[in-house]
Amino acid sequence: MSLPCKNVKKQQSRYPILVFLLCISPWFFGNGCIGVNGQKKESNRKDYKEERLKMVQLLREYGIKDKKILAAMEKIRRHVYIPVQYRLMCDPYGDHPCSIGYGQTISQPYIVAYMTERMEVQPGEKVLEIGTGSGYQAAVLAELGAKISSVEIVRELADHAKEVLKQEGYPDVNVLYGDGYKGWPEFAPYDVIIVTCAPGDVPIKLIDQLKEKGRMILPLGKFSQRLVILRKKNSKIQIENDLSVSFVPMVHGKN
Ligand code: SAH
Repeated sequence: MSLPCKNVKKQQSRYPILVFLLCISPWFFGNGCIGVNGQKKESNRKDYKEERLKMVQLLREYGIKDKKILAAMEKIRRHVYIPVQYRLMCDPYGDHPCSIGYGQTISQPYIVAYMTERMEVQPGEKVLEIGTGSGYQAAVLAELGAKISSVEIVRELADHAKEVLKQEGYPDVNVLYGDGYKGWPEFAPYDVIIVTCAPGDVPIKLIDQLKEKGRMILPLGKFSQRLVILRKKNSKIQIENDLSVSFVPMVHGKN
């Protein structure tokens, strides 16, 4: 008779410890709480403010000067753009890419800042991004007051980015699941096109969708890559070679 009683007691005393551990673990890891419906609710307790300040200080030291870009990157919570299951594997504010699943990465903060700075994006300009990935680069562009359309070839990443951008206060960013080689004609022509995956050649449809006096930046090359800046002037394209970089390849869609 006494044995079952003992067991019940033991279970009751272990349960609160389990609940406690479950409750503190999201706080400890800074990943937010998992709600009853499985949706992540972001915890405000660990907001990485200090880490963001350090990241921005490093960008300054690396030569990024544009105050609006630095302010945007100080404000935007980069960690929430990295899907929760990948956040612990990578320092979200370190100056390196982090995995976001499906073999893809969120770009290194310096490269995001550098490409954005080189494009001199102005408020109200129409910007097309190819390779939405996590949505972080799109958020930086939106924070500058540009109108963003972004195309992503992995459906799950497009869905994730759409949701995080909305949740983080950028509901006007248009995200399309599709093949970036086709651009996004619906909102063309664009003042700026930023490609964040590497094609072997400049996609011709992107040149077509660039405005007169528009500019485009892309990592070009199959094996070794270089950032290339294109400017459309009098319907002609001027090309400037820039930094050597390493991006994931721009893959071709099935149709
Ligand atoms: N800008 C992203 C990083 C992108 S990584 C960010 O801020 O997180 C490059 C992305 O390009 C990947 O998500 C990859 O799936 C996508 N991609 C590759 N080929 C593509 C294509 N043809 N069209 C659209 N997206 C493509």
